[in-house]
Amino acid sequence: MSFDDLGLGSDLLRAVADAGYEQPTPIQQQAIPKVLQGRDIIGVAQTGTGKTAGFTLPMIEILGKGRARARMPRSLILEPTRELAAQVAENFAVYGKYHKLNMALLIGGVSFTEQDQALNRGVDVLIATPGRLLDQFERGKILLADIKILVVDEADRMLDMGFIPDVERIIKVLPRTRQTLMFSATMPAEIRRLADTYLTLPSQVSVAPSATTAEKVSQRLVPVGGDFRAKRQALRELLRTEEVKNAIIFCNRKRDVSILARSLDNHGFNCAALHGDMPQSIRTETLERFKNGEITLLVASDVAARGLDVVGMSHVFNFDVPMTADDYVHRIGRTARAGLEGRAFTLAAPADAKYVASIERLIGSPIPRLTLDGVAPKTEEAEAKAPAPTSRRRSRRPAERTKAVPPPKTERPEAVPPPDEVEVTHVHGRSESGSVGTVRKSQSNGSGRKHDAEEKTVGMGDHTPAFLLR
Ligand code: AMP
Repeated sequence: MSFDDLGLGSDLLRAVADAGYEQPTPIQQQAIPKVLQGRDIIGVAQTGTGKTAGFTLPMIEILGKGRARARMPRSLILEPTRELAAQVAENFAVYGKYHKLNMALLIGGVSFTEQDQALNRGVDVLIATPGRLLDQFERGKILLADIKILVVDEADRMLDMGFIPDVERIIKVLPRTRQTLMFSATMPAEIRRLADTYLTLPSQVSVAPSATTAEKVSQRLVPVGGDFRAKRQALRELLRTEEVKNAIIFCNRKRDVSILARSLDNHGFNCAALHGDMPQSIRTETLERFKNGEITLLVASDVAARGLDVVGMSHVFNFDVPMTADDYVHRIGRTARAGLEGRAFTLAAPADAKYVASIERLIGSPIPRLTLDGVAPKTEEAEAKAPAPTSRRRSRRPAERTKAVPPPKTERPEAVPPPDEVEVTHVHGRSESGSVGTVRKSQSNGSGRKHDAEEKTVGMGDHTPAFLLR
């Protein structure tokens, strides 16, 4: 099937061709004709499937036929995070380039004045996060009585983030006669209830369940000791041996995002942090720099990195095992997008065994283990608790070092057996004598005090103390 068969007008077909798309994705093939017919839709699809164009293209077609009035947007797209809202806005700009539609973003962290001006001009498409929209609505800055199309995107994420009550409050002030499109990667009971309550005779369109995304990504689980230092050491080892073009490194906690980013920076990696507590202007700038390749490694929390669409991202690292299996699929789905290859590594401490088990249940297969000798759990008890390694040999040649990876600060012996003999991974971090461990040399710093050659010495000031970063 081609884009010509979907019922889109010539301006949109031109914009789609300009974007370089040759064929509609499965979700687009299913959703676009139905949205054009005015049907309500439940779309079971996650980011990476082309779902955004699946709803934006027909919306542009429909909205192209009318005009917006000041402060009365004609369509509303709800997104769980500012980043996703901004990404959808970018999509509108790309696909709507031959249309004269006005769009406004209503997200936290952007000045009210700017948003006010946009609303005053009259907007065809309002893209908003629920909290900010309610805020503006309750101040009387915006009227929602003219909304003809509502999109609730990433509904399951809205649920995880506690936004469903806000979403319902918004839906209740919208006109009853409207078209509603709801997209969700999974369909928990609460989302099903939302759909049953607020959609009219919806048509369900879906692409393969979210778990199958995992199939395109080459995954490894790396057993590590539970302490922070062992995990950081394992991560550096991986960053140095993998051919990392660009990667997101996920942490479960915002605090750890900052600490890990500083630690990596201390070790000479080109990285930045992204989490929900950072000012919006910095989040936006950081993302921009990551997308344009200025930053190679993005250390992020789930919320900040949700749904990010970065073309050709080579790796995802889970510094922490996510606590929900769905998050695992979402995280690793940041790589291997648009038919490209991707690799995902998850550091798993013995205490993570139950989360690993639930991930493996969801994706329907065990994640192959990769043992890094210097960091694997050591005690017999810990070994017993750790997920059992299923493979012990190396899958690929140690990568050429890329820009992401600084040359090690100490001499490192060749760490792997010849590539021809081997299939799955077992990396030895050897000491100079060939035994296990990261190479470290004790040096005198001239003051008679010895310090570790691999670590930078940092003062207190605005730094995180060095002992936290080791
Ligand atoms: P999404 O699932 O909406 O986040 O889209 C994922 C990526 O696929 C985005 O980078 C889109 O630009 C891209 N994309 C969307 N539709 C198509 C298509 N028909 N052909 C090729 N790429 C597409």
